[in-house]
Amino acid sequence: MAAAGQPPGYVVDDEAFRALVVAADPPRRLHTGLTWAEGPVYRPATDDLLFSDVPGDTMWRWSATAGAEVYRRPSQFANGSTLDQQGRVVTCEQGTRRIARTEPYGSVVGVVGHFGGARLNSPNDVVVRSDGTIWFSDPDYGILSNEQGYQAESELGHCYVFRFDPRQGRLSVVADDLVKPNGLAFSVDETVLYVTDSAVTHDPDGPHHIRAYDVVDHATLVNSRVVAVVEPGWPDGLRVDAQDHLWVSSGEGIQCYTPDGRLLGRIRLPEIAANCEFGGPDRNQLFITATSSLYLAPLRVAGAR
Ligand code: MG
Repeated sequence: MAAAGQPPGYVVDDEAFRALVVAADPPRRLHTGLTWAEGPVYRPATDDLLFSDVPGDTMWRWSATAGAEVYRRPSQFANGSTLDQQGRVVTCEQGTRRIARTEPYGSVVGVVGHFGGARLNSPNDVVVRSDGTIWFSDPDYGILSNEQGYQAESELGHCYVFRFDPRQGRLSVVADDLVKPNGLAFSVDETVLYVTDSAVTHDPDGPHHIRAYDVVDHATLVNSRVVAVVEPGWPDGLRVDAQDHLWVSSGEGIQCYTPDGRLLGRIRLPEIAANCEFGGPDRNQLFITATSSLYLAPLRVAGAR
């Protein structure tokens, strides 16, 4: 599926892509030796990146000064993470089947793990809106086997996208039309939510696309539509830049789309990519978790917010 061994580089599908990347500065590998790298989150306060090795049950920390070191092990099969409005790390734990938050002094507290009395499947990726609400996907990858969690039957019988309001302690389903919802990101003005569906991982006829939804009253989603079918492979994590482009993982690296789904170009990597995250002091460094390795691609555009 992925062109294994292909050298890192850029592929221009639309001339507009040239203004977004630094052609003379191809992506470089920062660290390797992981099982399945995922869930990168950049922390401006410490200028470092946390990311997960999901089957390795470990969260890692990478910084330019210290390189990669273990941040948390066991990690409860942590997958995606993000920061909340206070800069705290909010993490999807596939092992405990909950959303958890790391407090400033390092303790980990549960945020939400049940819906209507049923356990969540295995939260996969998460984003916090500027109003403090926590939006996350809940596919069943973590309960299908013991590789990325603990095998179990789904208590929900479906894979939803949820919105959690911490002030009200209220969890709501916001999308139920994805088979295996995965990565998610808001547009710059937070009026659109993008969610990937990676169901082709377990069904050759399953979706491998990005859906977009309009956000109504800060709380519900309407006007579900497919904006891009991602090939080769499937879309997992995605991020939005300050110009509203979508940067999404695929079997060949990272692909860059306009909000209406026009492919502008690709960051080609020798490994299947799972996720990406904007970081660095100017927020224009794209960190990419790709199978066994962490890569960095310097861009000419910064991440949103
Ligand atoms: Mg994911």
